[in-house]
Amino acid sequence: MNYSGEPILHTSIEFLKGVGSFKAELLRKELNIASYSDLLHHFPYRYIDSTQVQHIKSLQPDQEWVQLRGIIMNLQEHGAGFKKRLTATLYDQTGQLELVWFQGISFVAKNIQSNTAYSVFGKLSFFNGFPTITHPELELVKPGAQTTTPTMLPAYSVTEKLRAKGVNNRSFAKLTQALLEKINPSDIYETLPPELLQQYNLCGRYEALSQIHFPQNARSLEQASHRLKWEELFIAQLKITKANLRNHQQPGYVFGAVGNYFNDFYSNHLPFELTNAQKRVIKEIRMDTLQGKQMNRLVQGDVGSGKTMVALLSMLIAIDNGYQSCMMAPTEILAQQHFQGISELLKDMPVKVAILTGSVKTKERRKILEDLKEGRIAIIIGTHALVEDTVVFYNLGLAVIDEQHRFGVSQRAKLWQKNTLAPHVLVMTATPIPRTLAMTLYGDLDVSVIDELPPGRKPIHTIHRFDSNRFKVMEFIKYEIGKGRQIYIVYPLIDESDKLEYESLLKNYEQVKTHFPDPKYNVAMVHGKQAADEKERNMQRFVSGEAHILVSTTVIEVGVNVPNASVMLIESAERFGLSQLHQLRGRVGRGSEKSYCILLTSTEISKESRQRMSIMTQTNDGFLIAEEDLKMRGPGDIYGTRQSGALDFKIADIIQDVALVEETKNAAAAMLHADPELSHPNHRMLYNALHTKKSSDAPHWNKIS
Ligand code: ADP
Ligand code: MG
Repeated sequence: MNYSGEPILHTSIEFLKGVGSFKAELLRKELNIASYSDLLHHFPYRYIDSTQVQHIKSLQPDQEWVQLRGIIMNLQEHGAGFKKRLTATLYDQTGQLELVWFQGISFVAKNIQSNTAYSVFGKLSFFNGFPTITHPELELVKPGAQTTTPTMLPAYSVTEKLRAKGVNNRSFAKLTQALLEKINPSDIYETLPPELLQQYNLCGRYEALSQIHFPQNARSLEQASHRLKWEELFIAQLKITKANLRNHQQPGYVFGAVGNYFNDFYSNHLPFELTNAQKRVIKEIRMDTLQGKQMNRLVQGDVGSGKTMVALLSMLIAIDNGYQSCMMAPTEILAQQHFQGISELLKDMPVKVAILTGSVKTKERRKILEDLKEGRIAIIIGTHALVEDTVVFYNLGLAVIDEQHRFGVSQRAKLWQKNTLAPHVLVMTATPIPRTLAMTLYGDLDVSVIDELPPGRKPIHTIHRFDSNRFKVMEFIKYEIGKGRQIYIVYPLIDESDKLEYESLLKNYEQVKTHFPDPKYNVAMVHGKQAADEKERNMQRFVSGEAHILVSTTVIEVGVNVPNASVMLIESAERFGLSQLHQLRGRVGRGSEKSYCILLTSTEISKESRQRMSIMTQTNDGFLIAEEDLKMRGPGDIYGTRQSGALDFKIADIIQDVALVEETKNAAAAMLHADPELSHPNHRMLYNALHTKKSSDAPHWNKIS
């Protein structure tokens, strides 16, 4: 939502009162806030009613954010080194609660006044039944002050690091306040033409942006958020609609015939009967590629539904028509697996298959590039290495993109720069985005669904256990290893670069090793901080069967196939979303053995977490889980989409705001019908919005340059 113009908004955040160069750097690093505009668009995620103060005695485990008022006493430091922490007790009339700090200890210790009344705000957790707030936000209670403070205070998301450096929710609110004082109504340009404002009863942009931070009352907040959601969805719909118009005009190669390659493979080498769903999707692809228009198709299928075979059969049709194909995977490990699998399937056929990744050596690479350019390679499988400028195809007819939500339009385009026509594109994903949602959001792609698993799959037996049963769980794992099976143990590392989280992973790894000591057990570990080759090596130890246990973060969640692995143990499972749990679970159940997914959680988990665990233990159906996930968490949190930016709306919620999605879709269509290029002076700002590149724009399907 940064538009060109609005000069003052381009000011560096460093120059705002109360920021300075140190905080500016921190804000940029932690929240990607570099300019006034970024700060202005960092909306509160909720509002605290400052008149609402809770009592300690009535706090419940599933209350997340709480505001309390009481006296702070017993400041104490414990431990040393990185285990050092500071604790204090908060007393109100009804009970006591522990406050804990792991960072910024000396600053806090120096500044807190013991035996003094504070207003305390923070995230509640329970340890052994005792309520605790880690890194609370504190404010001295000044007698008589409440009367002047507004009742709706904004709550902003700030990171742990910012908190530790003293930028908490309240000081953040002071920054936005300072910013709003500097900005005049005329500094903010109106993006929507007057007739839309009137027709849809929307408030002006300046008003919306100031009220969203400091609403006068519930009604003005509602108006502000309505206006901002409307604008956000409207612009997204303009992009989608334009992309649709554009793609449907795009000519493409005609794959007129199904020939010998396809037929020979189908009759003589296909190792199993296709499922009906696979057959249906192949027919859809066949129809697409006959039309003389470029295919843009998204194939969604749950983990293990057999998307690779659909891709392979499509590539054989391309070969039948004299064209090359490529298949791109998100990681080297996956590319290797595809290469081995497909080479094996095609070993008795005269089809040259090659692999190109970052680790292919220069000499070999030169040969591959040469063969590719001369048309001697029919299928090339690889990673992002495939989009490098040196890769030139003889005639690329089909590009398959596996499990890559980040692979956007501009990157796709790089693949076929040298082609006369754009190749057909097949995107495959296990992220079970509900169909209606995909239609709305991936407007420039047609969607196929493989809604059937190959026969004979044994459902994965999923169980939920509390930490207190850890010992028994480990015994069970030993039993499985004794039978020759392998085990995944996954830890939630939300932020792989976070030092504390990383340390806790290492600690956990050591803990696993105490249960499974050398040399009897072989434990490997992979995480995002390892160098690519180290990750690869550790992964390979597990793939080859040498390591019994793979301890990892979620880096393994997509696509990896180790059929001998029979147990997926997910630690702190309450910290994962439903779809992510399902993805992780999909790593097992790939062989003939019975498989298990064990969800370990702490005993005190919220109602929602309990509900998630219970859904997981009840169903293996990825689409059902996606729907539930959407209901429970909202679309921004669907696994794989938060990172991709595909559903990453700042303020709109496409489930709750489904009526707005419809309304803005119609409004966008009407506008583009009347003014396809948005050249009318009143549409200038919208034109800019569609054509300015933000640095934070991850490329994705709907973002056209
Ligand atoms: P995904 O959709 O997760 O990419 P894969 O393509 O990796 O799934 O397929 C998972 C496994 O199922 C592979 O071992 C594959 O050979 C097998 N498979 C695929 N289709 C069928 C089928 N119709 N019948 C039996 N097995 C199949
Ligand atoms: Mg796959």
